[in-house]
Amino acid sequence: SELNFRRQVDDCQPYIAGETEAAVLKKYHLESVVKLGSNENPYGPYTNARAALQESLQYLNRYPEDDYVDLIATIAAKNGLTSQNVALGGGAGNVIETTSRLFLDAGDEVLIATPTYRLYREVSLLMGASVKEVPVRSDFTADFEAFKAAITPKTKLIWLCNPNNPTGVVNDPQELTRFIDEVGDHVWIVLDEAYADFIQAGQRAQLTDKLEQKKLVIIRTFSKYYGLAGARVGYILARQKVISAYDTITEPFCVNRSGLFAARASLLLDQAEASEIKEKILQQKQRVVNELAQLEVETVPSQANFIFVKLPGKIAAGQIAAQLMAQGVIVRECGAWGYPQYLRITIGKAAENQRLITELKQLL
Ligand code: PMP
Repeated sequence: SELNFRRQVDDCQPYIAGETEAAVLKKYHLESVVKLGSNENPYGPYTNARAALQESLQYLNRYPEDDYVDLIATIAAKNGLTSQNVALGGGAGNVIETTSRLFLDAGDEVLIATPTYRLYREVSLLMGASVKEVPVRSDFTADFEAFKAAITPKTKLIWLCNPNNPTGVVNDPQELTRFIDEVGDHVWIVLDEAYADFIQAGQRAQLTDKLEQKKLVIIRTFSKYYGLAGARVGYILARQKVISAYDTITEPFCVNRSGLFAARASLLLDQAEASEIKEKILQQKQRVVNELAQLEVETVPSQANFIFVKLPGKIAAGQIAAQLMAQGVIVRECGAWGYPQYLRITIGKAAENQRLITELKQLL
């Protein structure tokens, strides 16, 4: 371009963020807005994380060196790993971006599922890699056979998202594990577990003991289960050599001290509360699914804090999303993912979900 951007920037598409609450309030002259568009957790931060955030204020004059060390050690201990297996980032988004810089060269091939979280495609293209999209199966699980068939000698990395965004679908743990075991030695698997804490017991693949033998890295975040999306803390689990290379190429203090305090308190002190809230969200999810079924809206089985739903008949989801927004309910329409009849709806508090259902009843 005439502005001399890196050549690949032109290949990338801008991130389409959900409408902000403030923008919607103003545009439609509303008194309140229900935000169910960004898969946030309406209940966080939890009690001890809140106190830790408050406490952190008195230390904000200093760089967060000690707190990096502390949070890394806490994450390592929770996962049966050592501190040499953990690095932090400013949200999983930042970790994904750094991971692409770590592994990808111009000319590499990358595989992603379709549909999946858009950022994998953009960060890969930016590094000059080419991106092959592998459609999910009809039940929306990852098509591991198709992934295997798409691997070439140039395939450097496969981005997997489990549960997947925007569907909430989780892969069978045995099948996922087998795929990681069988994939060729030249291929890195990057497993994004942003929503994995919402997976029901027994359905979650336990993969941390494979980090040493397999070319596997796992990415997680405090944004969803712990309700800290605004604090911007995510992390990567990987073998020691990956972590030291990762640390070499990142800015030393890219997580702020308040985020580090809150994340550590969440892990150490807020487990019971987080788990109670998870149950509440899962119950609410079932309630929303049942109510939607009455409206002939079909829900794809979700193991996350959001659902991927198909509107009845030939109703365009984009139009419904726009009408919902005018009534103060923000959801995500999935046309950009190639699913013009689908909405992605975050599960909120009971009253928020009720408002969604009430408004949808008017529109369908
Ligand atoms: N991965 C997935 C699958 C996501 O849906 C999101 C947030 N929408 C992220 C990563 C990034 O989350 P954060 O940067 O807040 O940790």
